[in-house]
Amino acid sequence: MNKPSEVVIVGAGIVGAACAFELAAEGLRVLVIDEGFPSTGATGAAMGHIVVMDDSEAQFAITRYSQILWDDLCDQLPAAVEFDPCGTLWVAADEEEMAEVRRKFDYYRERGVNAEILDSQQVRDAEPRLRAPLTGALRVPGDSVVYPPCATGFLLQKARELGARIIHGRPVAAIGAGTVRLADGTVLAAAFIINAAGQSAPQLSRGISIKPRKGHLVITDRYPNFLRHQVVELGYLKSAHSLTADSVAFNVQPRKTGQILIGSSRQYGAQNSTVDESILARMLQRAFEYMPDLNSLSAIRVWTGFRPATPDKLPLIGPSPEDPSVLVAAGHEGLGITTSLATAKLICAQILGQRPAIPVQPYLPSRQMTAEAHV
Ligand SMILES: Cc1cc2nc3c(=O)[nH]c(=O)nc-3n(C[C@H](O)[C@H](O)[C@H](O)COP(=O)(O)OP(=O)(O)OC[C@H]3O[C@@H](n4cnc5c(N)ncnc54)[C@H](O)[C@@H]3O)c2cc1C
Repeated sequence: MNKPSEVVIVGAGIVGAACAFELAAEGLRVLVIDEGFPSTGATGAAMGHIVVMDDSEAQFAITRYSQILWDDLCDQLPAAVEFDPCGTLWVAADEEEMAEVRRKFDYYRERGVNAEILDSQQVRDAEPRLRAPLTGALRVPGDSVVYPPCATGFLLQKARELGARIIHGRPVAAIGAGTVRLADGTVLAAAFIINAAGQSAPQLSRGISIKPRKGHLVITDRYPNFLRHQVVELGYLKSAHSLTADSVAFNVQPRKTGQILIGSSRQYGAQNSTVDESILARMLQRAFEYMPDLNSLSAIRVWTGFRPATPDKLPLIGPSPEDPSVLVAAGHEGLGITTSLATAKLICAQILGQRPAIPVQPYLPSRQMTAEAHV
């Protein structure tokens, strides 16, 4: 018979998987429960861009820390995870965006992140398929790409090798006060419960706010060497910041398979997962404006997913406000693949009473959030 688990993790997306690996590596007895299969949530729909972001100091801290953790892990990642240190090219279409390139460059350089400003010709040399002329770009060579479902599979496999158990197809109905109640009536006891249920986390932990933010992606057939970097328009930042309007931005990723992943869109209030033809058309039109040759490629699949978004765009990592016996690890919006490994470190430090590598306060679920209302 299995010993009772010390930690039960609800959710086998990339965040739950990273927590399972980290806690099992610390010698804790871990059980992961998912109502579906691993990666059936946002993780299976994501792009897998591992990217340092600078929307706030707290966002920078967790993305940078996590990127370093991915780099530390990269030698262990199997080929299926498709780790690709391709870097990011943030392209500027006008002088206003070029000012943003320079601001971002200074910000990164002051914090030890390697970055390089490219002029119009250098952008063309770096990515010949971009339309000309573009004003310039910021190249961030340390950013990378992974294939999220296989990255999650890898983390779960490592956790399993360290003794963790993973069960799927079992919805959790309620958590709290040291118990996990499954929908079939089974009750499990655990010293620590981690709510890593992504956008469904508020259904299990009252008092937290996470809203789904719909996104569309398109993947093409194989066109090796079409693209060298993850290329993102600087207008993406305006799109990612908008908390109300539907938005699209040019964001393309080279996959190791030779496929091109084309994004991205953001919609609040869109609850159903069907492809929205009008937003898809806007998204592709935007991509063709920046990279006209994309229009001649063959697309093989279109899908949607929901980013788990919080009001202040930072994840929730720490004790649930209504039940401190539950630790929340959810609400990573469009950065959960990037920040999964750092989230696991912060959760682990809180369980073990250790000092984390970065301060946890900005991510505590009990924090005051600015009232940028969700719609
Ligand atoms: C279109 C798109 C593009 C993205 N691109 C990127 C990117 O390039 N880089 C990046 O860093 N991030 C990206 N993201 C964001 C990233 O996908 C998410 O932040 C991340 O996957 C969240 O992981 P998670 O484990 O918290 O949630 P999920 O992956 O949603 O996992 C939650 C799990 O909990 C399970 N669950 C829920 N409720 C219950 C219950 N009651 N009982 C049992 N199990 C339950 C679900 O089945 C699910 O498997 C993107 C997201 C989208 C939608």
